[in-house]
Amino acid sequence: AKGAGKNQWRRYQRHLHDEMVERLELRSALDHAVNEGHFLLHYQPIVDLVSGRAAGFEALVRWHHPARGVITPDQFIEVAEESGLIVPMGRWVLEEALRTVSEWRRVLPPGQAPYVTVNVSVRQFREAGFVDQVRNALQHTGVPARSLMLEITETLLMKDDEQRIWADLSTLREMGVRIAIDDFGTGYSSLGYLRQRPIDVVKIDKTFIDDMVTSPQPLALVSGIVSLARNLDLTVVAEGIEDEAHRDLLVQLGCPLGQGFLFSSPLGPTEVLAWMTRSEI
Ligand code: C2E
Ligand code: CA
Ligand code: CA
Ligand code: CA
Repeated sequence: AKGAGKNQWRRYQRHLHDEMVERLELRSALDHAVNEGHFLLHYQPIVDLVSGRAAGFEALVRWHHPARGVITPDQFIEVAEESGLIVPMGRWVLEEALRTVSEWRRVLPPGQAPYVTVNVSVRQFREAGFVDQVRNALQHTGVPARSLMLEITETLLMKDDEQRIWADLSTLREMGVRIAIDDFGTGYSSLGYLRQRPIDVVKIDKTFIDDMVTSPQPLALVSGIVSLARNLDLTVVAEGIEDEAHRDLLVQLGCPLGQGFLFSSPLGPTEVLAWMTRSEI
């Protein structure tokens, strides 16, 4: 039995070792990708649930790996966060998203261009000068602040340096940039905290949308968020809408906006304008 235990221990050690090597390899490949600019953005429409028209698009990063093809963020965001590589990557994401909006504004009739919403990691806020980075990027792309929204996840906001981040968010908001709380409902914040915060949009996490059709608790939560948001003059976006039942229930509850595979998966940059004109017919 002692021998067996020893073997098990060795196997466990080997497993840990493999995992560590894998993470280190991923980290150095990611470092290379950041230096070489091996990323691209896909854009998922955020749709008016009644009219079906796109109000904006969420920019979602992809890693274009020379050998492995297009890799989605669930496979590298965590390592990017841990290593701090999310900071230079995030800077590129912001710039690229704004370049794309300025292109939409160039080709679409005045007032028709959708906004873009960009995911921002708390690590980016911790870097000095994030607010200036946003201001500069808006300036040199010529995109008005109203056409940019920043998404920050609720769980990350609950951590340390909260006060400084809220102060930066207030400044950005005074500039006209809109602020969304992402994955709402998954953190431990009460609905009440929305009241005093510089927030424009609440994005309800997909897990609640999945479950609300069949169980009363998530339904009550979604309905509570929608009515509170209306009282506080916030906009609500429901995430992960995959079928008509979700959409119909959300419309009944008075939820104005949503995104999900029912409308469209994230689109390549050249597919966005085609999708917009198609949805208009
Ligand atoms: P998220 O911000 O919650 O983005 C929504 C994710 O749900 C996207 O996955 C999107 O493709 C997926 N999705 C959209 N509609 C549906 C649906 O109807 N059903 C299902 N099952 N999934 C749907 P994606 O693109 O893989 O991104 C995953 C996460 O990676 C994002 O979650 C976000 O937290 C993070 N992320 C993506 N791009 C960036 C970025 O540029 N910066 C940072 N910091 N994080 C990013
Ligand atoms: Ca998001
Ligand atoms: Ca989300
Ligand atoms: Ca999420």
